[in-house]
Amino acid sequence: MTDAGTNWAGNIAFSAERVSRPATVSELRGIVADSSRVRALGSGHSFNDIADTDGALVSLAGLPGDVEIDTAAATVRVPAGVRYAALAREVHARGLALHNMASLPHISVAGSVATGTHGSGNANGSLATAVRTVEMVTADGELLTLDRDKDGEQFAGSVVALGALGVVTSLTLDLVPAFDMRQYVFTGLPLATLEDHFDAVTSAAYSVSLFTDWSAPVFSQVWLKQHEDPSALAPDFPWATPATGAMHPVPGMPATYCTEQHGVPGPWHARLPHFRAEFTPSNGEELQSEYLVPRHHALAALRAVAALGETMAPVLQVCEVRTMAADDLWLSPAYGQETVGLHFTWVKDTAAVLPVIALLEERLAPYAPRPHWGKVFAMAPAEVRGRYPRMGDFLALREALDPAGKFTNGFVRRVLHG
Ligand SMILES: Cc1cc2nc3c(=O)[nH]c(=O)nc-3n(C[C@H](O)[C@H](O)[C@H](O)COP(=O)(O)OP(=O)(O)OC[C@H]3O[C@@H](n4cnc5c(N)ncnc54)[C@H](O)[C@@H]3O)c2cc1C
Repeated sequence: MTDAGTNWAGNIAFSAERVSRPATVSELRGIVADSSRVRALGSGHSFNDIADTDGALVSLAGLPGDVEIDTAAATVRVPAGVRYAALAREVHARGLALHNMASLPHISVAGSVATGTHGSGNANGSLATAVRTVEMVTADGELLTLDRDKDGEQFAGSVVALGALGVVTSLTLDLVPAFDMRQYVFTGLPLATLEDHFDAVTSAAYSVSLFTDWSAPVFSQVWLKQHEDPSALAPDFPWATPATGAMHPVPGMPATYCTEQHGVPGPWHARLPHFRAEFTPSNGEELQSEYLVPRHHALAALRAVAALGETMAPVLQVCEVRTMAADDLWLSPAYGQETVGLHFTWVKDTAAVLPVIALLEERLAPYAPRPHWGKVFAMAPAEVRGRYPRMGDFLALREALDPAGKFTNGFVRRVLHG
């Protein structure tokens, strides 16, 4: 949240009068127990009112606590306010790595996990799939710990939980051995070529992102992030042309903000995100939406999006296509299905963008899209709920943990109960 009381993009003014920054877990427990409505705020990078409350907004950024790394078990216990950039530095220093990262490393771990935030890669689950244990303060101010190996069902419902079950104080994440990567950018991949080679293109590297502004049915950029292979000079990617200079996904934006390209080897945390940790964007001149569709619908969904190219042109900065492995977290947009994310970075003009979003959602409807929980969407709440087979179980879990609706906010009332 900025000092002005808005989210990062500035399109949401939070209703809470102030943000509390408890200095201890017991202070946090007191705030939760004594408030009739309360909600945790991460780094405020969501584009809708999911983090808002008219009660007590609580930031855990000031909660003390070190990142605790268990090298033997390859796990890390992360205080909830920590951001990925800081976590990555510490984990890497101990010879370990996260399996994946989102495009921006400045987002908080707890906030990202709560919304099902993801990177890309056919075999890579969303960031929440790395979670082993969740520790949270529940509505009565008590501490609840849920463990993936011991609390199966309740755990699966409590990881991607939209902040609606409690305030997460720490998460334990799985790690993998540290690895180096090379990032390559290719230009000019026609949609028709992607249609013929979808599986080969999306599996051409550990993480693959396709970018287009849909001014033509062509992906202007393809970003490949692959584990370093000293014997490979460049990936085998015969469907597009190697870029000659460093590129930003949005045409005209400086590539200096982007992570190193041209196959220069570097640590995983300096290649997996698109944007460098050293450049901290204080606020953004953009809005974002994203629709997660089952992989078997990806090509039909892309054709539907391509047909809207001219309509989207005045408000679209760039569209990005990524893939994710299926998972079993009840409210994860990749729950139960191999998934393809169709992401849209819009200009920052809500009034101009909303009608385009409505049209886009109408065209994508046959492909069962699940909107990203932290981005702008207009889809009917019943439709959103209908996309999640375990939604009824999640609502029952929410009712059991928080019968008075302490963590319920406008977003939850509208989308989960409206
Ligand atoms: C520039 C930019 C790039 C992005 N790139 C990606 C991307 O690559 N992939 C992707 O999937 N998404 C992406 N996003 C979206 C972003 O990852 C999500 O909006 C994410 O939720 C942001 O985390 P946050 O900490 O800012 O959460 P916030 O917006 O602060 O909060 C989001 C939700 O998490 C809850 N929450 C936060 N902390 C806690 C806690 N301690 N306990 C319980 N609940 C909590 C809040 O109550 C709220 O419901 C991007 C956003 C931006 C601005």
